[in-house]
Amino acid sequence: MGLLDGKKALIFGVANNKSIAYAIAKNFIEQGAEVAFSYAGEKLKTRVEKVSEELGGKFLVPCDVTSDHEIEACFETVKKEWGTFDILVHSVAYAPSDALKGRYVDTQRAHFAMALDISVYSLVAVAKAAEPILNDGGSVITMSYLGAERVIRNYNVMGVAKAALESTAKYLALDMGERKIRVNAISAGPIKTLAAAGISDFKKIFNHIAENAPLRDNCTQDDVGRTAVYLASELSTAVTGEVIHVDNGYSIMGL
Ligand code: NAD
Repeated sequence: MGLLDGKKALIFGVANNKSIAYAIAKNFIEQGAEVAFSYAGEKLKTRVEKVSEELGGKFLVPCDVTSDHEIEACFETVKKEWGTFDILVHSVAYAPSDALKGRYVDTQRAHFAMALDISVYSLVAVAKAAEPILNDGGSVITMSYLGAERVIRNYNVMGVAKAALESTAKYLALDMGERKIRVNAISAGPIKTLAAAGISDFKKIFNHIAENAPLRDNCTQDDVGRTAVYLASELSTAVTGEVIHVDNGYSIMGL
């Protein structure tokens, strides 16, 4: 018997089999969930198709989160395929590479707007579109990083976006709690993915954590995937508006 038997999960944010969303989907399926994937534009379709075939996804749906029209069409498809569903995973972020190096004070208005739109407002937009077909007791999960709470060199506007994302998860938790739908964030340690490749000095951060985290290692995609299972399952029915660190304890450290 799986922890997610009979549950249906829509996953935003698979780019390839290194994506955190890939590991979340894999762990959900291992626990008995049915999973469907969205993909951001035609360029990613083939890659996400490959992942969906490998894992046994139920269907694929295009959704660039900057488009209200695509979000609406995405949830029309989900409604047609499933009627209702239980779990929404938001594992999406983007900032132009120029905004992820140097001094934060140099962030351009357009880059700030784009980073906050794709990485934060998208959670509001997909939660609103999903709400009418999310079952009571459902679960919404988003992905954050320590740069929301502490200053991490070069993370810059993405740190500010993650702070807004964590706050957004809390405000949504109040709204959606009326129907016992829970909204939580996982603050993951650094993991080698496509998105991480855009952060200057990522390797330095990665090595520093392996040496200094209480558990003396970096976390893996699967570590995050298993915590997502917990947040999606009955094991966490009283947990909402929470930010759970999955980082081998690094966030507790001072010097
Ligand atoms: P990834 O590159 O595999 O995933 C990022 C996803 O965002 C991609 O699937 C991409 O298609 C999607 N995306 C970007 N713009 C989009 C748009 N306009 N519409 C729809 N989707 C769009 O990298 P990842 O590391 O798995 O990132 C997933 C999440 O985890 C992000 O929110 C990231 O900030 C967060 N996170 C990553 C790390 C890390 O070290 N890798 C640590 C903590 C948090």
